[in-house]
Amino acid sequence: MTHPPDPDLLSLNTATVREKWNLRQMIEGCARHRIRGISPWRDKLAEMGVKEAARAVRGNGLTVTGLCRGGMFPAADRKARKAAIDDNRRAIDDAAALEARCLVLVVGGLPPGSKDLPGARAMVRDGIGEVLDHARSAGVPLAIEPLHPMYCADRACVNTLAQALDLCDELDRNGSGALGVAVDAYHVWWDPLLKTQIERAGEKRLLAFHICDWLVPTTDLLTDRGMMGDGVIDLPLMRTWMEEAGYRGFHEVEILSSGNWWRRDPDEVLVTCRMRHQTAC
Ligand code: ZN
Repeated sequence: MTHPPDPDLLSLNTATVREKWNLRQMIEGCARHRIRGISPWRDKLAEMGVKEAARAVRGNGLTVTGLCRGGMFPAADRKARKAAIDDNRRAIDDAAALEARCLVLVVGGLPPGSKDLPGARAMVRDGIGEVLDHARSAGVPLAIEPLHPMYCADRACVNTLAQALDLCDELDRNGSGALGVAVDAYHVWWDPLLKTQIERAGEKRLLAFHICDWLVPTTDLLTDRGMMGDGVIDLPLMRTWMEEAGYRGFHEVEILSSGNWWRRDPDEVLVTCRMRHQTAC
């Protein structure tokens, strides 16, 4: 039996309570429930203002475990690709202002009307390559988040940890730590190579660990994610693999759940997150 995780390593990905709370409420909610990490999304961040958010995060002693999200690189024409690059640079600056541990990259899928998957993947590689220097000088590591293959067309054409790490090898050859991966249990739990790829990533490239659970059956491709312990993912085993590979960072709860958790009182959700972190992770 795995020992329970350090409760101070729990982080809230704010998508978990996005329907009922604004960012200020999320920050204060974390403080109230003694959740030490937070990972905001940019829409809520823009609503509150980056400076104000940074002040509130610091004032409550929270660690920003990631900013969600940059990426979305593939686009139909040069102008739109350039706009994506510019947007990623702004996201890097926001992440720096928040002293975020990383900027999470959901890299993007096929441009509208396209069937050129290798082309989209090349645009992702080129896009990350274009913003990497900016990220380096801002001191913000970029975390490529492989998404489950069911999102390949519309959200991310990087779908396995191996694929994400190949990009890291190509773009950041010496493993400086400027480029790494976000391991989201929901997206990678099924991968037969998961353990070896976590080992391959190692301490320098393991930038974030996102947790929730895979429900059986899953009734919505995007917003039917489960609370830890309610599904089929062996989260303690995955955490063990992360720790054995040198990961010492936070465990970020990210639950998109339109039918269940989004409807509940966010204070109840956070209480449940804290409890399940101890019993199911
Ligand atoms: Zn995630």
